[in-house]
Amino acid sequence: PERSEITYFGAGPAGLPTDVLETASEALINYKNTGLGLAEHSHRSELATNIINEAKADLASYLDIDESKYEILFMQAGGTGEFSAVVYNLVGAWVARKIAGLGDLKGEDLYAALREHIDGPKGKLVLDYIVTGSWSLKAYQEAVRLVGPEHVNLVVDAREHNNGKFGVIPDQKHWKLSDDAALVYYCANETVDGVEFPEFPTVLRKSHEKDGVHFPIVVADMSSNILSRREPVDEHSIIFFGAQKNLGTPGVAVAIVKKAFLPPTCSQPAPTIMRKVGLPVPPIMFQYQEMAKNNSLYNTLSVFDVFVAGQVLKKLLKTYPNKVDGQQAVAEKKAQLIYGALEAHPEVYKIVPDKTARSRMNICFRVTKNGDVDASEKAFLAAATKQGLTGLKGHRSVGGIRASNYNSISLEGAEKLAGFIGEFAKA
Ligand code: PLP
Repeated sequence: PERSEITYFGAGPAGLPTDVLETASEALINYKNTGLGLAEHSHRSELATNIINEAKADLASYLDIDESKYEILFMQAGGTGEFSAVVYNLVGAWVARKIAGLGDLKGEDLYAALREHIDGPKGKLVLDYIVTGSWSLKAYQEAVRLVGPEHVNLVVDAREHNNGKFGVIPDQKHWKLSDDAALVYYCANETVDGVEFPEFPTVLRKSHEKDGVHFPIVVADMSSNILSRREPVDEHSIIFFGAQKNLGTPGVAVAIVKKAFLPPTCSQPAPTIMRKVGLPVPPIMFQYQEMAKNNSLYNTLSVFDVFVAGQVLKKLLKTYPNKVDGQQAVAEKKAQLIYGALEAHPEVYKIVPDKTARSRMNICFRVTKNGDVDASEKAFLAAATKQGLTGLKGHRSVGGIRASNYNSISLEGAEKLAGFIGEFAKA
């Protein structure tokens, strides 16, 4: 089929606007009449720097990020790489704060004093994780792998509040937050389970500030809902996301990092110190301060992927004069259309997550006609594909149907799916 005949509901990589891809394919062959494609140009060239700086400025403008307080970094190793990077960087920042409080101690005296803060009697290093789906679970497991289970606190596991399955955001009164956690982690939208935080959790709101660092130190994975709604950026210390859903092509991830965690305000402790106290030393590629110092060009970066992301941002800024609020209104309308079509036929469709936690981006449901789920879902997928509605199969770990309703799905695309959902139920 032609591109124009398909509406692609895949969860990631997601579809991209055709005009952006046309611009990108020209750039891949001959960028700005240089006779050389963008993936062939040096990442140290002025044109690469311009692409990076423009993409940063457009992202900041679209999401209202205060660039005097936050650094925007293009990182590698995807969203998964950031699971590790946030641990390394914020454990380092936590240790740096402890060192600052210890005065002039050096060498063995310093290591001994630090250990007393890390493993008692004077305190304990703790990382807090809110687990509401498969991706925050993975991030939690990575933290356990890097720093050990004794340093990771499971604030809440949503499965314990929903018969062993993801699908709810548990009431915040059940959350067990630690004092002085090096970070509190949540995933704003769980791509596999179709669970989205309806808004920023009130218990994570800034309570106090010291030396530019806000407490609690909140980290959010926004891989699958970034650019789709207004977020209170300044409630966060780090927001990260892989590009391949709402931003662009796979190959880069973005980390929006509070500058208070970067030099000169805060420097990562020397590797010797981290080793002496038994904590992990960040691989250089994951160290935000190094990436910030080099404007994301510590090593060869896929500037082509940054270019595609930049083109998506330019298109968004052109389409929506009121920026992310404009896209948010459309995203909500599309989600209402699709959920509405499902709710109209409860005899056939069962929406997986609880109504209070339904994702606008990943709409997960089961299909049952004549009592046979497997056969019904196969028939649903086959009939949808015939109409050009593709990518609807649920994640392999949970099965079912998942309509990923990212920004690249137009209102007409959502209407088409909603129409099909109704027709299939009646057929
Ligand atoms: N976080 C979320 C919410 C995701 O949906 C994904 C991937 O789908 C990831 C993290 C992992 O991203 P990556 O595949 O770029 O490592």
